[in-house]
Amino acid sequence: MRILKFGGTSLGNAQRLRNAADIVRNHTNCVVVCSAMAGVTNALEAVIISWKQGDKTRAFEQLKSIEENFAHHCFELFVAPASATRVIEDVQAMYVPVYELLGADYDPENDGKVLALGELVTSYIFNEYLRESGTDSFLMNAMDVLHLNGQDEPDVEDIAKKILSLDFYSGSGIYVSQGFICLDGQGRVSNLKRGGSDYTATLFGAALKADAIEIWTDIDGLHNNDPRFVPNTTPVRELSFAEAAELAYFGAKILHPSCVRPAREYEIPILLKNTLEPGAAGTIIGSQLTAGGIKAISAKDNITVLRITSGRMFNAYGFLKRLFEVFDSFRLPVDVVTTSEVSVSVTIEDDTHLEALRHELSKLGRVSIEREQCIVCVVGDVMPHVSGVLEKVEPFRVNMISLGASSNNITLVLPQENKTAALLALHALITNSQFQKLQPCTPLQA
Ligand code: ADP
Ligand code: ASP
Ligand code: MG
Repeated sequence: MRILKFGGTSLGNAQRLRNAADIVRNHTNCVVVCSAMAGVTNALEAVIISWKQGDKTRAFEQLKSIEENFAHHCFELFVAPASATRVIEDVQAMYVPVYELLGADYDPENDGKVLALGELVTSYIFNEYLRESGTDSFLMNAMDVLHLNGQDEPDVEDIAKKILSLDFYSGSGIYVSQGFICLDGQGRVSNLKRGGSDYTATLFGAALKADAIEIWTDIDGLHNNDPRFVPNTTPVRELSFAEAAELAYFGAKILHPSCVRPAREYEIPILLKNTLEPGAAGTIIGSQLTAGGIKAISAKDNITVLRITSGRMFNAYGFLKRLFEVFDSFRLPVDVVTTSEVSVSVTIEDDTHLEALRHELSKLGRVSIEREQCIVCVVGDVMPHVSGVLEKVEPFRVNMISLGASSNNITLVLPQENKTAALLALHALITNSQFQKLQPCTPLQA
């Protein structure tokens, strides 16, 4: 069993859907995880914004335009006009409850139902196309199997139980499902946050003990730097789970921040492949440790740094416990931490409750806050390259450096306005590193 996940661009028009179907047809035993067609989730978010602003007419018009766009793709995709008409009618029926929702006053509880439409419609069309073109496939509704627990976290064993008890699931065959969408801990239609289809794929992979999870996207693997900001980046052929998890968590958009976790826990290799160039090698992520050097760099924006300074920390115990209890009470994940004898610096991403947080932290010491920071994460066998990294970032006002928590990364926090310059400066270390020589390592069975 394999998981094949297709991102929005890979399903973005009739020709791309045909290409994806060709890839699926190379398999007899797989779960296909579909994202919404490119642009659709953004467009659905815009519908929600209009609805929230009380502009129902605009919300209706925006939804209508998304619906018409789907119909246009169906007419191009299905050879027989009767098939296109049938599928379009079915799709229209899927829109009806959402138009009804928009007729009522805005209620944030319903956001999930609006956003789910993208994945539901795309997977429906794709499954119908597979069947129409002679591939026996079954539609598996992700909301029947992916239910978050009381802490709004997915549970791999529960997903496994639910998939295995579906009456049409036999353990082999082709199953088409949706990425991103799920039910939350209270049974409401929800999702795994933007980019969440990758996470669905690895959760399904872990639940079904898949041989591999293939993530099909619009680029030939995980690149050694962010291709949106740095020219001439190249794909990294092999990464360990730990390295990939760091890069995904710290901004490599090709992977959802949490998606490596289930694959790592259940030791299922992830292959990153390019639908636009299926022959390209891509990237393989597994438990192997590969050759040295700095392999890749990523960066994450919109970070806030909090520095808490207190004389009470000096030679005392219990201070850090009390500090982290404050973050815990706000259910706020802390990404990077550095300490000195009198101060602690931490980074957070979500600053919704910043003032309340500052108030609570000020009971422990003097609090200073710096917003619009970014985290730059340098990954690989970094220890021999520490001085090189520090030299490259010298021109910038580096606020925090975290080194040694694991031997495979150095994490830096600096002003967001310096992000691109820092990525460009650090890139020189990759091209100079031994990793470019691609030292041999054991190939994975995937
Ligand atoms: P999909 O819709 O298939 O999920 P995404 O847009 O989410 O695709 O992810 C692919 C994009 O991630 C690429 O087009 C690229 O611009 C961006 N990206 C950012 N960092 C990296 C990286 N290190 N390697 C590859 N792609 C990256
Ligand atoms: N469609 C969702 C998004 O655009 C999920 C995904 O593509 O992974 O964020
Ligand atoms: Mg994505």
